[in-house]
Amino acid sequence: MPKKKIIKNHMPVKKISPTQTKAEREVVAEEKREKIRKGFQLLRGMKDILPSDQPAWQFLYKKAEELTGFYGFRRIETPILESSNLFKRSVGDVTDIVEKEMYTFNDPGGESVSLRPEATASVCRAYLEHGLINQPQPVKLCYWGPMFRHDRPQNGRYRQFHQWGAETIGEINPAVDAELILLAWLFFKEIGLKVNLQINSIGCPNCRPEYKKNLVAYYRRKKKHLCADCQRRLLKNPLRLLDCKEEGCQEAKAEAPQIIDWLCEECKNHFMKVLEYLDSMEIPYQLDNFLVRGLDYYTKTIFEFYPAAAAKEGEEATRQSALGGGGRYDGLLEILGGRPTPGGGFSLGIERIINEMRRQEVEPTVKKPPQIFLAQIGEQAKQKAFRLFEELRREKLPAGQMFGKDSLKAQLEIADKMGVKYVLILGQKEILEDTVLLRDMDGGVQETIGFDRAVAEVKKKLKS
Ligand code: AMP
Repeated sequence: MPKKKIIKNHMPVKKISPTQTKAEREVVAEEKREKIRKGFQLLRGMKDILPSDQPAWQFLYKKAEELTGFYGFRRIETPILESSNLFKRSVGDVTDIVEKEMYTFNDPGGESVSLRPEATASVCRAYLEHGLINQPQPVKLCYWGPMFRHDRPQNGRYRQFHQWGAETIGEINPAVDAELILLAWLFFKEIGLKVNLQINSIGCPNCRPEYKKNLVAYYRRKKKHLCADCQRRLLKNPLRLLDCKEEGCQEAKAEAPQIIDWLCEECKNHFMKVLEYLDSMEIPYQLDNFLVRGLDYYTKTIFEFYPAAAAKEGEEATRQSALGGGGRYDGLLEILGGRPTPGGGFSLGIERIINEMRRQEVEPTVKKPPQIFLAQIGEQAKQKAFRLFEELRREKLPAGQMFGKDSLKAQLEIADKMGVKYVLILGQKEILEDTVLLRDMDGGVQETIGFDRAVAEVKKKLKS
């Protein structure tokens, strides 16, 4: 007997019996298609941004662009892929992001590269690499784009997510910190989202070591209550202990020393100035003496924004629910090989903001949906319709079309779904007569107008 040929990855196919009905055969075929589709599903923690999601995305993007533009931030785009060392050195070796969440792999040339988990490090690298230090300081930059973290997928935690961020590099003045906070705060305010701003200072290399020593001494006494990660952090990165969400570690934190009591004169004055600016701009904030943020490069001011409702109901604000955060990073550029150069920035998580908009029932204000639909019947009409539609666009009239459809009925159904007020119809008769039919969708009244007058007539109708 000849050997049976084994085909790898071949789907088991149910045999079609000659007695099967058409409907039964369709069920079997659909099962087969579904199995194939399952093999190509979206990766865990990734998200498609569908056309129905676009109004919210565009709304946020426009607001971000408007605010950064007004405050003089210029757009920068850095690659999604960077050398792994960039993030190890800047974000920090002993951080969750670098230790557990980075997508790191060797490229075909054998170099270790990572998908960016955040953008500040890349922006600072670009600042140094392109000599932006030679431009008038500070250099104010902003970005919008995808970031990647192999986080445990759950609500509000994705493996690809988007951040809008701004960075001011080259200025030590506390007004810079205040301006960055103002920008993020205005963003939330103007999109109509209620948020809480939490703020702290984590000092500088002058005062932080002494605080760390005290923190370690305190936690040594509590060591047996700490989770395995924190026992390790105690040796390598004790500030991270304050950030741990494990129950035992949270309890152990209760009486931990607070950095505010250890700040040097310079850090204290800087922090007081930032708070003064916030007060004068009437930006409400809460001091959180245990706020440390999940990245190593911060110095002095750090801040985070949380959904207001969560804090109001007494829920503990967790790092997972933060909508955005930032702070000053006066040592980062030096770590990356630059001259001592101060800097600060923030980044906001767009997906989380959109989720929160839904929760707080904030509707994006979007561009007007189409109010005119341009329908065409026949090849000549289609060609003429392309030109007419372009004229409507140039006049900024909210128009829709479906040139892929030939049947008038199908086009009118689409126009109806769009909820347009008027339909312009170009058929064979109209082509011959050089006219166009204007149909009022409310009353069903139709009138014939000269092709040349079509745009002006639509404009007039929409105005009235
Ligand atoms: P971070 O600098 O880590 O605090 O991130 C800034 C903001 O990005 C956070 O406040 C979140 O809004 C957002 N973010 C961070 N990680 C994720 C994630 N895994 N999924 C979705 N958004 C995230």
